[in-house]
Amino acid sequence: MGFRSLELKMKTDYGPDDLKNVIRKICKVRDFTYVIEKQSLDGRNPMEIHWLVRLTVSSPEIKGGTEPNSSTIKVPFKRTDKKVVVVGSGPAGFFAAYVCLMGGLDVTLIEMGPDVYQRTKDIKDFEKSGILNDRSNYAYGEGGAGTFSDGKLTSRTKSIAKEKRFIFEQYVKAGAPDEILYLAKPHLGSNLLHKIVKNLRQDFIDRGGNYIFNNKLLDLKIKNGKVKSAETEQGVIDADYFIIAVGHSSYDTYKMLINKGVKFVTKDFALGTRIEHYQEIINRAKWRTPSLPGVKAADYSLTYSFDEMYSVYSFCMCPGGKVVPTPPISGLNIVNGMSNYKRNYPFANSAIVAGVNLNSLVGREFEPLESLEWLLSLERKFYDFSNSYNAPAVKVSDFLKGRTSSDFGKYSYPFELVSADFRELFPQKITDSMAMALKDFMHKIWGFEEGTMMGLESRTSSPIQLVRDGMLCAGFDNLYFAGEGSGLAGGIVSSAADGIKCAMDVVETIP
Ligand SMILES: Cc1cc2nc3c(=O)[nH]c(=O)nc-3n(C[C@H](O)[C@H](O)[C@H](O)COP(=O)(O)OP(=O)(O)OC[C@H]3O[C@@H](n4cnc5c(N)ncnc54)[C@H](O)[C@@H]3O)c2cc1C
Repeated sequence: MGFRSLELKMKTDYGPDDLKNVIRKICKVRDFTYVIEKQSLDGRNPMEIHWLVRLTVSSPEIKGGTEPNSSTIKVPFKRTDKKVVVVGSGPAGFFAAYVCLMGGLDVTLIEMGPDVYQRTKDIKDFEKSGILNDRSNYAYGEGGAGTFSDGKLTSRTKSIAKEKRFIFEQYVKAGAPDEILYLAKPHLGSNLLHKIVKNLRQDFIDRGGNYIFNNKLLDLKIKNGKVKSAETEQGVIDADYFIIAVGHSSYDTYKMLINKGVKFVTKDFALGTRIEHYQEIINRAKWRTPSLPGVKAADYSLTYSFDEMYSVYSFCMCPGGKVVPTPPISGLNIVNGMSNYKRNYPFANSAIVAGVNLNSLVGREFEPLESLEWLLSLERKFYDFSNSYNAPAVKVSDFLKGRTSSDFGKYSYPFELVSADFRELFPQKITDSMAMALKDFMHKIWGFEEGTMMGLESRTSSPIQLVRDGMLCAGFDNLYFAGEGSGLAGGIVSSAADGIKCAMDVVETIP
């Protein structure tokens, strides 16, 4: 058996037969298999958009060559009676718990929200009634913020290739399409994530894991830098290791941990709004055509920086998606974006955010808890604007002319859009930076000024960052804080990878 690597240019709607014909022609083989290693859309020339496909062909008719190798993490199995409690079932908590289980530990995973089935119902009720369930919403419940997310599986974090492969392989076993293993921009969408999260839970339970819903971590009992037990709503749980993976929205848990001596520092984060366009505008701007066979919907990635101003960039762009209300608790007005696997809603949305340093924005040094309070007060301000989850909004063209808008046309947001002057809602340096950037984006994306800016996008990343000693919380022997809440990871894949790294640290300390 020999191997041959190929880099091919394929039309956007190519199918397996097209690929096989090309392989036959180039390699002159009849009996072969192939593995796609990477596939990315090359849209540099809008008149000739195509897939770039890198693959390896295996065939007895080929001599030599190298077998494709996709290495993943190897979890050592230990015969042990050690126990671990993992708090939070988002990507970080779930993968931490799963790896600890593979490593032979006795694992209890607690989640303060309900399972994904109940969560889906609660979100529907919220969007009908405007009454939020503080434990079951877009941020909280089984699978964490990841479950109702857009499900883009891209990550800019370096040195997590093996963890990423492991995560993707578990997703594929749990029902994700194989393409996530090779697409340059893999995407699941919320509808597939629901199924995947449920299947992963079943696998975890079948392997002997203990999964408890509707159980909040309230306190930790600590002696001499060692956590002895977790006080939860359903009782006290003793364990040898504790992995906290509560995301970046669980402010009462942050407060409890900081009061217990877990060290955090303030860090830069991003603030801004969601911008929504008709998907067709984006497709035409990127592809010069309203649709492209074989590609779901066009995306974009924009950045702008200018001396004296904050740099502004697009973040978490959701082609064919919708804007959703994502407050973790009542009385805060925050938005985000999501889509389903097919990306077939008629709208495109993206966060347009300014990278913010709170100390320079407000002009004094902030303690970690003060940063959280500052952010909460801005999120309350957006809620108080209409005393509801309706989103304050303005058309890009009006914002740039210093006006408010009277008509928004059609939009995806489930509540109403209320006309607002963003200059009164945001700190001035943020709106000034956004205005400069939007003028630039209008030249990069034809029709960008037709978009609508809606709501506050304030939870792109944590405003505080954990101080670690190795993977452990500094000053603690057996306490880990994994995922987005640590301020050291962000997004589904890097949060899950961080959870895996914490779990591997636990497993490796066991003789
Ligand atoms: C609408 C939306 C769209 C997004 N789209 C994308 C995307 O396309 N791609 C991407 O990479 N990222 C996306 N994200 C971000 C991504 O979801 C997060 O980065 C990721 O989920 C963080 O994982 P985590 O495990 O660290 O925390 P989380 O997912 O936030 O999970 C934390 C869990 O802990 C639970 N919890 C909190 N406190 C306690 C407590 N005291 N006791 C017990 N349980 C507790 C919560 O209920 C929650 O389930 C999106 C987020 C949102 C909201």
